[in-house]
Amino acid sequence: MACKIIPPGVDLHIHTTASDGSCSPWEVVQLAREAGLAALSITDHDTVDGVREILSVGVPSDMKMIAGIEISSMAPDPYVSKGSFHILGYGIDPESPVLGEALEGLRQARQSRNPKIIARLNDMGLSITLAEVESVAGGAVVGRPHMAAVMVRKKQVASVQEAFQGFLAKGAPAYVEKGRIDFKNAVSLIRAAGGLPVLAHPVTVGLTPHDLQGLLADLASQGLAGVEAYYSTHSLELTQFLIRCAESLGLLVTGGSDFHGKYKAGIHVGVGQGDLHVPFDCYANLTAALL
Ligand code: AMP
Ligand code: ZN
Ligand code: FE
Ligand code: FE
Repeated sequence: MACKIIPPGVDLHIHTTASDGSCSPWEVVQLAREAGLAALSITDHDTVDGVREILSVGVPSDMKMIAGIEISSMAPDPYVSKGSFHILGYGIDPESPVLGEALEGLRQARQSRNPKIIARLNDMGLSITLAEVESVAGGAVVGRPHMAAVMVRKKQVASVQEAFQGFLAKGAPAYVEKGRIDFKNAVSLIRAAGGLPVLAHPVTVGLTPHDLQGLLADLASQGLAGVEAYYSTHSLELTQFLIRCAESLGLLVTGGSDFHGKYKAGIHVGVGQGDLHVPFDCYANLTAALL
């Protein structure tokens, strides 16, 4: 019987302990190896510390890595994102001063946002302090998943998911807006740092396929370089639709799991919920476009 050999895949969307993942950058590299991947990208929120950590020691010879970042942004008019509108930056220079300054601004915005979320939780009767959350985050960029983890530990909720649904998610009572960079500025910033901007997890933008196609066309005309078609929670139909959109608009296709370790239960490096496979070409085409 003929045996179909699936070439090694890649995972271009991974969070580490530098932001709100629960595995360190080196643990993530190890997990990527164990999953048989050929390449990975660390794409933490608002920091390149995880990327730096791997680069400072050297990427293992059996693995390829592309530097990444994930920036919270806003859909340009007239589109309104119903959920997260995030821009990934690939191939950025982690030492870029202009990028470093912008990321520092986003981290400072978190420092004014985080106490507001904690105050809302306290107002709702939950005993939780910023110190507890910062201790869980361990010096990393503090995000809502760290707050959810404290709430789980203190048995205020049964799971991270429950903490988001009841309190922390956009639209829930303890949600506070975060620092964002508008789309045009996110594109300029990523390109100024030598990288390529890619729309992350289009499913979370929450538009109909028709509107999503219109949005992608507008974003492409404003400097977007690619779209994350392969994603843990994308249906096969959505992935195929996004690949067709990318082909017609001249956009690159990328993909990744959005692994966060214990903060996103059921999502694994390389395979997402079990059925994700991001072709090596996604990595190869991205790196070729950066040359
Ligand atoms: P923050 O950077 O503090 O706004 O937190 C953003 C992170 O929270 C995302 O990257 C996800 O890891 C997580 N997140 C956002 N919404 C949800 C949700 N509804 N359920 C579980 N995790 C979520
Ligand atoms: Zn996250
Ligand atoms: Fe995201
Ligand atoms: Fe992410």
